[in-house]
Amino acid sequence: MTNDDYKQKLSEEQYAVLRESATEPPFSGKFDDFWKTGDYKCGACGTVLFKSNTKYDAGCGWPSFWDAADNSKIKLIDDDSLGMQRTEVRCGVCDSHLGHLFNDGPVEHGRRRYCINSAALNFEDK
Ligand SMILES: [Zn+2]
Repeated sequence: MTNDDYKQKLSEEQYAVLRESATEPPFSGKFDDFWKTGDYKCGACGTVLFKSNTKYDAGCGWPSFWDAADNSKIKLIDDDSLGMQRTEVRCGVCDSHLGHLFNDGPVEHGRRRYCINSAALNFEDK
């Protein structure tokens, strides 16, 4: 898909996050305080990326997961922007921006915190 295709398919907010690596304001996203059981899919290509059973309340204002549904579908990239050393999380299938990975997650699950924009995800009830 070209960027024009994505512009057709996605809302302005989804496009800004997924294709231009924007970050939605904290506590603004529809999945921040959202606890239904199901799958979280890439907003651009529909690949299942996260599952509700690894979602937890990190208090940071964005949906947080301590693991990915399938690590082979996730791409991690060093990100030195904004003067910070972070790890960017992208969809491994369509290369869309999702959020960042931090190492302050739950100790019992390996300290990972996938901090993901609500606008990057679609949810499917299970
Ligand atoms: Zn994708």
